[in-house]
Order: sequence, then C-alpha cells, then structure tokens
Amino acid sequence: MSAPTVSVPVGALVAWLGRWQELVARDRDHLTELDKAIGDADHGLNLDRGLTAVIEALRENPPATLDALGRSVGMTLVSTVGGASGPLYGTLFLRFGTAAGATGSVDAAHLADALRAGVDGVAARGRSGAGDKTMLDALLPAVSAFEDAARSGPVAAAAAATNAARAGRDATAPMIARRGRASYLGERSVGHLDPGAASAALLVEALATALAEDG
Ligand code: ADP
Ligand code: MG
Repeated sequence: MSAPTVSVPVGALVAWLGRWQELVARDRDHLTELDKAIGDADHGLNLDRGLTAVIEALRENPPATLDALGRSVGMTLVSTVGGASGPLYGTLFLRFGTAAGATGSVDAAHLADALRAGVDGVAARGRSGAGDKTMLDALLPAVSAFEDAARSGPVAAAAAATNAARAGRDATAPMIARRGRASYLGERSVGHLDPGAASAALLVEALATALAEDG
C-alpha cells in the first residue's frame, strides 16, 4: 500500500487556529479552574484573549506562507497573552513557521518536522522537559505520535497525535510540578491536571479537526 501524499495548504493551518480558538473559548472556564488549583486562575482567560487577537490578525492579514502564519500567530500570542503560556505558545508558532519555511503547503513529514521544531522551542524557552508537569507533557508525546504516523498522511498523524496529547495531559495529574507557577506548590501540585497540558491537548485536537475537514 502506498502512503498517501496529501499536501496541507496554509489555509488548513489558518483553520487550525480557528478551531483552537473555538475549543479554548468553549473550555475557558475549565482551563481557568485548573489554573486556580495550582496557579493564578488566569490560563483560560489569557489564552482566550490571545486567540481572539490571533484570529483577528489572521483575518486582517491572511498569510500566504507557513512562515508568515507562524510569525503572525507567534507575535500576536507573545504580545497579547499575559503569563508564561503566551511567550511559550508564541515561541512554538514562531519556530514552527521558521522551520516550515516560505511555502504555501507542506506534506506530513515536513509538517512533523515543523511541529517538532516548535515544541523543541517551547522546551528551550521554558528550560523544561518531559515530566515537569507542563504543556510539554501533552506536546512531546503528540509530536512523537505525529512523526510515527506521518507516513499514513497528515489526517491520520494528527488523529494519533490527539490521542497521545490527551494521554499526556491526563498523565500530568500525579506529577509534581517542576516549572512555572505550579512548581511553587511542590507536592501540593499532585492530583491536579496541568492547565497548559489541557490547552495543549486542545491545540492538537484542533489540528486533527482542521486537517480532517480539509482532506
Ligand atoms: P502563568 O503561570 O504565568 O499564570 P498561564 O496560566 O497562562 O501562565 O500558563 C500556565 C501554564 O504554562 C502551565 O500550566 C504550564 O503548562 C505552562 N508553563 C509554565 N511554565 C512553563 C515552562 N517553564 N515550560 C513549559 N511550560 C510552562
Ligand atoms: Mg496562570
């Protein structure tokens, strides 16, 4: 059986941001509740505000290439999301765009590489890694799953990544936070899901939805 050679246009990735914005708006209060338990109760509000600005910027200035998309989304998130998650998600999109390049579409392998570059950027910027009870605990397994399934095409890869992101999110509950505000709680952070891992699982789910709708 030959691997599907589906190419993902930049428009499908603009739709990705739209879907993420919808999911974050839907779960805004839940994300804020999670952040109330081990942070400062602003994560849902922060991201909802930032993504509303992202959608506005993409509408005003539709990007023709993936690097333009990454720059627009990344810079908007950095400048509009108060809190740690803004610069971290902003870095993800800036690195994603740079790695994808000045192209109007990507195949699954190229998309996997760009996602990996984005997530590595979060780890570098946050000086964090797997097991620290952060967004990376959803993002790292998601990118690995995407890479492993990339040969089956972008839609299947994103679906596999979504399952991995959700499992990674759920695995943050028993962890002791070692980065970010929740780390101040030490052992008292145990028993709570990390809010950033929850919003990151929505990011991956949004990609799967947008790619499935495109294909
Ligand atoms: P703040 O903690 O500044 O209020 P948010 O509430 O918007 O920012 O985001 C908190 C989330 O950011 C955490 O749940 C965690 O997933 C993520 N986060 C915080 N610090 C780091 C870090 N150093 N590396 C990776 N992710 C981090
Ligand atoms: Mg917070």
